[in-house]
Amino acid sequence: MELASRIFISGHRGLAGSAIERRLKLEGFRDIIVRTRAQLDLRDQAAVDDFFASEQPDYVFHAAGVVGGIQANRSRPADFIADNLQMAVNVVDSAWRNGVAKLLFLGSSCIYPKLAPQPLKEESLLSGPLEPTNEWYAMAKLAGLKMCQAYRRQFGFDAITLLPTNLYGPGDHFDLESAHVLPALLRKIDEAHAARADSVVVWGSGTPRREFLYVEDLADACLFAMRHYDGEQPLNVGWGTDLTIGELALELARVVGFEGRFEFDRTRPDGTPRKVLDTSRLAALGWRPRVDLATGLELTYDWYRRSTAHAEVREHVPCSCFSPSS
Ligand code: GDP
Repeated sequence: MELASRIFISGHRGLAGSAIERRLKLEGFRDIIVRTRAQLDLRDQAAVDDFFASEQPDYVFHAAGVVGGIQANRSRPADFIADNLQMAVNVVDSAWRNGVAKLLFLGSSCIYPKLAPQPLKEESLLSGPLEPTNEWYAMAKLAGLKMCQAYRRQFGFDAITLLPTNLYGPGDHFDLESAHVLPALLRKIDEAHAARADSVVVWGSGTPRREFLYVEDLADACLFAMRHYDGEQPLNVGWGTDLTIGELALELARVVGFEGRFEFDRTRPDGTPRKVLDTSRLAALGWRPRVDLATGLELTYDWYRRSTAHAEVREHVPCSCFSPSS
């Protein structure tokens, strides 16, 4: 990848895509191609093919996706499987057909089987049944990974897959029903703090364990992999360490300055009990994350407070745009 390369980022308005775009610009890449959903519907095969034929990108970061938290996955299973599947098939196929040199596909740690041994190793993929609360999204992302592997085997197409853990950071979605846990709790705690409320509701038991990666670290990993990795096997991206949802709530309370209580709503699902990645494969290639959780939460809260001065953060409906990963 050279500074003059033509680079297409799908999902550039989403959490991961926007971070990749910022990072590429920071490094001096001059020829970055982006499209909003209104300009290019990635579910439309003919439109995607026309786009690749006319724009002729050299490199593709496929960060687009219909995304959301545990509740969004439950309420919109058809969108989660069909839209993500169509986008993956169209983008990988058209990229290869139109001479793209290399494609990076973003999967997600939620494609691992529900009961796979922790920390999750790449070899555990497809070794057992999926977590039912996000199996629709997971099936589509697994198919995308297999698209990359199949096109590599049959056509020699240099398509690689990264499997990031739960991402957070600037550009996230904060809709209370459909967001992921970290942005949802950050917003709830901030609002409770502002209203001097004495408690905040946390869904589920608070005991599930999750890992969180600051999205600028993901962008860094994407550029690293684009430059240094051309294997068929996917690579996990994360810290390899996790904490409980209850501990996350306390961390967020510390950042916000909220001193109230947490109430656990057990009518809401816990989802998978644990989801922590084994990151040794990417580490062996020489990549490690840099922004620890405490720093990342401060940066995210700072961004959130500045952004809530503009209404769009709260009004943003995650699934109305194509953006990245669960
Ligand atoms: P998951 O990682 O695919 O399970 O998706 P989420 O990020 O939506 O949820 C992770 C965990 O956080 C689950 O155990 C949720 O029940 C829990 N959780 C606690 N409070 C919230 C909340 O306000 N929103 C969401 N989305 N999850 C919450």
